[in-house]
Amino acid sequence: MTATDFRPQTELYERRPVTAPKRLLVVYAHPDDEAFGNAGIILTARAAGVEVHYVCATRGECGTVDEHFLADHADVRALRTAEQLAAAEALDLGAVHFLNYRDSNMPGTPDNLHPEALVMAPVTDVAERVAAIIDAFEPQYLITFPPYGGYGHPDHIAIHHATTLALAQANWRVSEVYYSTFSTSLLRVIIGVMRLLGKNPRAFGRNGDIDVVRVAEEATPITTSVDCRHVIPAKIAAWKCHASQGGGMTRVPAFLWWWFYGSETLTQVTPAPAGRRTRLRFDA
Ligand SMILES: [Zn+2]
Repeated sequence: MTATDFRPQTELYERRPVTAPKRLLVVYAHPDDEAFGNAGIILTARAAGVEVHYVCATRGECGTVDEHFLADHADVRALRTAEQLAAAEALDLGAVHFLNYRDSNMPGTPDNLHPEALVMAPVTDVAERVAAIIDAFEPQYLITFPPYGGYGHPDHIAIHHATTLALAQANWRVSEVYYSTFSTSLLRVIIGVMRLLGKNPRAFGRNGDIDVVRVAEEATPITTSVDCRHVIPAKIAAWKCHASQGGGMTRVPAFLWWWFYGSETLTQVTPAPAGRRTRLRFDA
């Protein structure tokens, strides 16, 4: 079998039929990307009556998982699928579309050569399948990763390229396209502190494979923010559904929640941003 022979079927977990006039499609790589990145935005859209579907390219097979989480599940894939479906309830998603590629890993790891890995799939194949979902769901809003995928994960970068191509190829025109992004001010403080302590900010994280300097350099500008203050407890509840990925840990004391969790940020891609920062209100 060559890499290009693997053409998985999309698996749809639908919680209700699509009837809402406004729709948001979120397209990411892993179970947890939707919640850790945009739980507040999804919940805010739902509160405004916007239907939200999540296209999840993989089942997160390569995620690092503590042994005890696997007690009730056959493997990491089953565990993370169950976590994603629980998060779909917590976020009140209308549906999750699993593209069913295999999770890839950080650059240079053998998982990335697996013939079913997302990074081995031709971008045109993935784009065609995302475009089919866009044409069926007809969203006004779409959110995906920026070109560097946040922290350089190959799957994040792969789904960015596939989604960009899908938007160009779909018959349906999505009127507002956004990338997830974040403020780099705290990151720049962390980089400074790491250097002061003699640590290398280009080799961060459990496996030393995250280049924090590049993460800050590649972050796309904040053009748009979403007020999430009214959904903070629900947002934290959604994170907790992805407990095997650290979603249960909330070390920020409640009195600082508004400051840390009260807003989520985006880079507006389509239409071209006007130049000043705007607030996205789904009920407008
Ligand atoms: Zn991810």
